[in-house]
Amino acid sequence: MRRALLFVALLMFTGVLGLARTVAAQTSRSVYIRAGSLLDVHSGHVLQNMVIVLDGDSIDRVTKADEITIPASAKVIDLSNAFVLPGLIDAHEHIFLTGEDDGRYDEQLLKESYQYRTIEAIKNAWRDLDAGFTTMRDCETEGAMYSDVDVKTAIDRGLIAGPRLEVATRALSTTGGYPLEGYSPEVTVPSGVQIVDGPDEARKAVREQIKYGADFIKVYGTHKFYFEDDKLVSIPTFDLDELKAIVDEAHAEGRKVACHAYGDPGLHNCIVAGVDSIEHGLDLSDDDIREMKARGTWLCPTLYAYITVEEDDLKESDGTVSRASVHEISFKKALAAGIKIAFGTDAGPFPHGTQAKEFEYMVKYGMSPLQAIQAATIKAAELMDYSQEHWSKEVGAIDPDKYADIIAVQGNPLDDITQLEHVKFVMKGGVVYKNDFVQPSVDKLTQ
Ligand SMILES: [Zn+2]
Repeated sequence: MRRALLFVALLMFTGVLGLARTVAAQTSRSVYIRAGSLLDVHSGHVLQNMVIVLDGDSIDRVTKADEITIPASAKVIDLSNAFVLPGLIDAHEHIFLTGEDDGRYDEQLLKESYQYRTIEAIKNAWRDLDAGFTTMRDCETEGAMYSDVDVKTAIDRGLIAGPRLEVATRALSTTGGYPLEGYSPEVTVPSGVQIVDGPDEARKAVREQIKYGADFIKVYGTHKFYFEDDKLVSIPTFDLDELKAIVDEAHAEGRKVACHAYGDPGLHNCIVAGVDSIEHGLDLSDDDIREMKARGTWLCPTLYAYITVEEDDLKESDGTVSRASVHEISFKKALAAGIKIAFGTDAGPFPHGTQAKEFEYMVKYGMSPLQAIQAATIKAAELMDYSQEHWSKEVGAIDPDKYADIIAVQGNPLDDITQLEHVKFVMKGGVVYKNDFVQPSVDKLTQ
């Protein structure tokens, strides 16, 4: 029955696949993209009347329109009335969460098979691609074990459409340090992460996750939190010895460690243990910021996710404080201190495909639009680099020899960052997945 379901889902996708294959076949001819405005994401310069020449799935060169003769036989994609930029990177999301409905988390883990959740994940990945995210770092499957590795493989093999993925698999926390929670001790319930205690168990779990396909290790440095007076208080999970064992083992195998942490000793221990990125980082102390700066620790802030839950937080704190209000202060301090910041959204608890809202808050809290776009392109690619994958050589900019991962919007996002919430053209690896400049997509699975 489960296999039958998966088969039906694959049939559903043949519309999309048909489109992808047709365009892929066309890319065997030379493809030229006319770009009215083209963002050089390195310098921030907007180049006018450019042509991008593709070579299969990659970019061959970028040149001024008046310096090239396009052969009559070539396929030309006309974006001469559009603003063209590199495909976006979301460095923190969860395709295995479809959290539009309140309380769905427990239901997903208790009532839905891995197979069903994988079908949902495929749809979520498609929504993200449709919104212009051509690469993503998927920050754990929330109880769906190693299914992210399968989705990644299916995308890479061209079986389904979706962004390029870097995957965490199961993630790690301690006993009592992650849902499902609140059930009777007599009932065995699934866990949203792999639960381990002590340095030895932690080290073994890192080995196991890498063995089965983890590109990086996701660890929870804090879990429970509450509001006291006008403060956010975060409870640590792992102790420093456990965190050091995780980081040591991951780094020995050439993998990075991403640490979910809100603040207080749980977050500080993660920095001192040598994690590569702090995810969320809501409540960074001045000491945390100094330490992150000295060590080159990344911050992946996911601002918008906390805006979506601000009302609930304010109810809980009697209107005194919310995670969003604490986070705004931390983000501004981190930005002023020159901490490396990569764009990530935590899409999943809120709908996939809507995460470009994050740009708005990055800019509202002090980033220039160019900085925000760089965080979602060259910076996010750099965060994702690890020993076996050189993302920054392959994605994040419209440069020769990088993948032809290209998007376009109507107006200039350097003037109005919300343009990125309305991506009209999406190409990944030379294949056009969306071109609303020609006609609205009919192959969408999202509506
Ligand atoms: Zn997350």
